[in-house]
Amino acid sequence: MTTYVWDYLPEYEAEREDLLDAVDTVFRSGKLVLGPSVGGFEREFADYHGVAHCTGVDNGTNAVKLGLQALGVGPGDEVITVSNTAAPTVVAIDGTGATPVFVDIREQDFLMDTEQVAAAITPRTKALLPVHLYGQCVDMAPLRELADRHGLVILEDCAQAHGARHHGRLAGTMGDAAAFSFYPTKVLGAYGDGGAVITSDDEIDGDMRRLRYYGMEKTYYVVRTPGHNSRLDEVQAEILRRKLRRLDGYLAGRRTVAERYEQGLGDLADRGLLLPATNEGNDHVYYVYVVRHPRRDEIIEALKRYDISLNISYPWPVHTNSGFAHLGYGTGSLPVTERLAGEIFSLPMYPSLPAGLQDKVISAVREAVLAL
Ligand SMILES: *Cc1c(COP(=O)(O)O)cnc(C)c1O
Repeated sequence: MTTYVWDYLPEYEAEREDLLDAVDTVFRSGKLVLGPSVGGFEREFADYHGVAHCTGVDNGTNAVKLGLQALGVGPGDEVITVSNTAAPTVVAIDGTGATPVFVDIREQDFLMDTEQVAAAITPRTKALLPVHLYGQCVDMAPLRELADRHGLVILEDCAQAHGARHHGRLAGTMGDAAAFSFYPTKVLGAYGDGGAVITSDDEIDGDMRRLRYYGMEKTYYVVRTPGHNSRLDEVQAEILRRKLRRLDGYLAGRRTVAERYEQGLGDLADRGLLLPATNEGNDHVYYVYVVRHPRRDEIIEALKRYDISLNISYPWPVHTNSGFAHLGYGTGSLPVTERLAGEIFSLPMYPSLPAGLQDKVISAVREAVLAL
């Protein structure tokens, strides 16, 4: 039997009654679009973060795109981010008409090297887009300082960091606004697509609500600029409400899995296998459990024998994709990003990952690394 890097079926079996009840609740409500479940989820997700507003949207990519637009980003602007991220981060910037600008990542945690941001700022820079990648937060203090000094806005990409904390503060509460994805694999995942933008700024939230609803202030009137149809689905919102109540339990489950990996594999550091490091002040939520080894490809090949499916997040840094060749980042332009892309791989990680499967992964990885 294949051990998958991610699998929702054990969770579905455990939560099935509640999830089916969520679907039934919506179907019987008489309101299938922007009804009580979207409104309820928005209030509860904002409350979870202690912010004033949440606007539900149809997916995380559009959360980033509309979030940037609500912050005033558009054609001619530059947005500083990283190339070591899910392509949608960059696709969303491109979707606003703005130009993505990349800085490299740090060797020790794969996150934005904030020391490189100052040199990337130009008169056209409008926004900073830190990505809290793999489940832990980028250092926000240096970014806030730069944003204040240069009059920039900050949108946090929290698609991988639901519930992560940075010096006690939740991911998503440190920028001007924050974008979340509820794609099924995410730390808070729907049973389909979903996304949201949170903010404590009334005007940004007002713009978000218009942007996701054709640009309309109220039904039938496009008051300002034309927007999109990017509404969070009512059924997904009701499922997310139920799952939000269990979010802290999911985080605990992920941390238990991470601890077991650490106990089982931590001693392989002197054989070149490096486990994820948590920065001072961060609470990691392990959206993915990314390890690295200089002979990554041989390890992945060896693990096929054990029927364990591994993932690489991400094998091709965004700037090396042909669709972004026009940005002009040649090979060698982001050396740490490019080198780590050849060394990283992700072990199976989800809160309901059975302990037996985890032990199977640990012993297989041990054998593969020790045989090199
Ligand atoms: C998943 C993800 C997105 C996009 O979310 P979708 O819901 O798949 O559109 C954006 N940014 C990051 C970092 C992601 O991991």
